[in-house]
Amino acid sequence: MSKESSRKFSPETNAVRIQVPRTDEMEHTAPMFLTSSFCFDNAEEMRATFADETDFNVYSRFSNPNVDELVRKMCALEGAEAGYATASGMSAIFASFMALMKAGDHLLSARSIFGSTHTVVTKFLPKYGIETSYFDINDPASIEAMIKPNTKMIFVETPSNPGLEIIDLALLGEIANKHNIILNVDNCFASPVLQRPIEFGAHLVTTSATKWIDGQGRVLGGVVVGKQELIKEIHAFCRSTGPAMSPFNAWVLSKSLETLFVRMERHSSSALKLAQSLEKNPHLAFVRYPMLPSHPQYDIAVKQMSGGGGIVCFELKGGLEQGVRFLDALELLSLTANLGDSRSIASHPASTTHAKLSDAERASVGITPGLIRISVGLENVNDLLIDIEQALEKSA
Ligand SMILES: *Cc1c(COP(=O)(O)O)cnc(C)c1O
Repeated sequence: MSKESSRKFSPETNAVRIQVPRTDEMEHTAPMFLTSSFCFDNAEEMRATFADETDFNVYSRFSNPNVDELVRKMCALEGAEAGYATASGMSAIFASFMALMKAGDHLLSARSIFGSTHTVVTKFLPKYGIETSYFDINDPASIEAMIKPNTKMIFVETPSNPGLEIIDLALLGEIANKHNIILNVDNCFASPVLQRPIEFGAHLVTTSATKWIDGQGRVLGGVVVGKQELIKEIHAFCRSTGPAMSPFNAWVLSKSLETLFVRMERHSSSALKLAQSLEKNPHLAFVRYPMLPSHPQYDIAVKQMSGGGGIVCFELKGGLEQGVRFLDALELLSLTANLGDSRSIASHPASTTHAKLSDAERASVGITPGLIRISVGLENVNDLLIDIEQALEKSA
């Protein structure tokens, strides 16, 4: 806030109004602090800052006013004590693992996680002596039995990418807190507008800001927020290893947060409308959306999310081959690897991101051969529906 206010504002207001202090130029919009380092008035001030006796900025690998503004907003939205922003979602997730686990520790992760996170969990963590195992998101009763004396962290993504599987955060929060384990939730798909994992007992929330937070497909970014003592470790790890977010990206993302609430409401209402209409389409085996009563975890979705978000999935009756034909038949939707854009996007995981896996491996992470993932943008929803329906007709 430019003037310190004693009133507590709601998250929507904080997303708009939290701002770096106004400079002598009296600008309205936050200026961009494209500077690698910061000056000191005298040697004593510099000494005190290096001795951690002040909280002045030193170097943009450690902190930067634009990055701090973004982090303060994300903390306000997620209800978190502290945070750190990184160059991408993956560096936020990786830093949360590397800063808080050591050789001999065990990570218990949901099986349905983002592809690159899966690579980190299965390929890289074991290289550093960190043991990992997967639990099935559809079998929450198995989780507690998989906890070992050395289990340090539980990691989940809900809703999951791309299968939209949902896990009960309150149940996980209870288990993690009972066993004194860090619960780390990737909240990328819901965003803090629709779901706040910390309210259910999570200790860390990681987010790819590249997706809904940017919302216009421009910049990469990641944020991790949570308990002060955990963020302190993550900050110490990042300040020395260097995955810092660029001030330019932070400026873009912080401006984006001003519209996050209105955008997520519109993404969610369009996605629900699309999902409801497609559920009646004869070319589809099923439609998956958190707020459809036919979703297997609908009851949990309603309990922990205030909206379904912008991703809709459906299964083509014609499987893998129809998936390829469907993408080619689209006229309006983009074929691109991103999601969470103002422009709607279609993807077919079985022929692209998950093509290297076997059918059985794909099935274990909720990806069927004809699964299509739609990231619903801000276009008129009827235009989207017409494009998808004509592509279904043409590819059938
Ligand atoms: C995209 C994504 C990530 C990785 O984020 P980047 O910004 O691409 O590094 C992590 N988790 C989920 C759920 C994602 O969709």
